[in-house]
Amino acid sequence: MIDIKTKGVRDGDHWIISGEKCWITGGHYSDFLICTTRTSEKGLSHFIVDREEHGYESRNIEKIALNSQSTAQIFIAEARVPHTNMCGEEGIGLKNTVKEFEMARPHVGLLSIGLMRAALEETIAYATERKQFGKVIAAHQLVAAKIAEMATMLDASKLMCYRALSMIDMGIRCDLESSMAKWFATEAAVKVCRDAVQVHGGNGLTKEFNVERLAREAIVIPIPDGTTEIQKLIIARGLTGVSAFV
Ligand SMILES: Cc1cc2nc3c(=O)[nH]c(=O)nc-3n(C[C@H](O)[C@H](O)[C@H](O)COP(=O)(O)OP(=O)(O)OC[C@H]3O[C@@H](n4cnc5c(N)ncnc54)[C@H](O)[C@@H]3O)c2cc1C
Repeated sequence: MIDIKTKGVRDGDHWIISGEKCWITGGHYSDFLICTTRTSEKGLSHFIVDREEHGYESRNIEKIALNSQSTAQIFIAEARVPHTNMCGEEGIGLKNTVKEFEMARPHVGLLSIGLMRAALEETIAYATERKQFGKVIAAHQLVAAKIAEMATMLDASKLMCYRALSMIDMGIRCDLESSMAKWFATEAAVKVCRDAVQVHGGNGLTKEFNVERLAREAIVIPIPDGTTEIQKLIIARGLTGVSAFV
C-alpha cells in the first residue's frame, strides 16, 4: 500500500485535510497545491488546496543544485477544503498519480539530455583547445573515447525519451518505456557530466567552468519522480508480473 499519511475527513460539503509533504517542487512559492490525500483506508484523492483560502505553511529546503525551482516541506493543519476542489473522482488518486508519472518521467529524461548536451559541448571545446604532451587532449585516445561515449549515451537517452513521448502522443500506455527512459537518461547524465569534469582536469572542479554545475545538477535528477531503483522495480514487474517492491 502507498504510504500517504496526509489525511482528509469528510465534513458535509467539505474535507478537513491535515498532514505534511516533503520535497514538493515549487512548493515554497506556490499559491496552491495539488495535494494527494488519503480519503479512505485504501483510497487516495487529489485536492486543490489554496494557500490563502484554506491555509498551508511551507519551508524551502536548500539543495546542492536544481535551484531554479524550490523544493519545499509543506504543513497542512486542518485545512477546510470544499468537496468541489477534489480533482476527479474520489479514490482514484493512485491511478491518476501513476498516469502523471508516465508523462513526467521522460520529461525528467529531457532535463538530463539538456545537461548532457551542454557537458558534451563544453568538453569538445575544452579538449580541442587544451594541450598536454605536445598535442590537444582530444588527440589522446582515452580522452577521445570519453567524448565518443558521452555522445553515444546522449543519443541513446534522446531516442529512449522521444520513444516514450511519442507513445504518449499516440495515446499508447508506456509505463515501462517511460521508466526505462527516466533511469537510463538520468544515470547517463550523472556519468556524462562527471566525465566532462574529468576531461577538464583541475579546472573542472572550479566555479570558473560550467561543468562543475552540470555535475551537481545531474546528481539530483535520478531521485525525483521515482529513483533509479524504483524505475527498475517497475520495469521488472511489468516484464515478469511479479512485484519485487516489498
Ligand atoms: C528535486 C526534487 C523534487 C521533488 N519533487 C517532488 C514533488 O513535487 N512531489 C512529490 O510528491 N515528491 C517530490 N520529490 C520526492 C521524490 O519523489 C522522492 O525524494 C523520491 O521518490 C525518493 O523518496 P525518498 O527521498 O523518501 O527516499 P527513500 O524512499 O527513503 O529512498 C532512499 C533510497 O532507498 C532506495 N529504495 C527505497 N525503497 C526501495 C525498494 N523497495 N527497493 C530498492 N531500493 C529502494 C531508493 O531508491 C533510494 O536510493 C522530489 C524530490 C526531489 C529530490
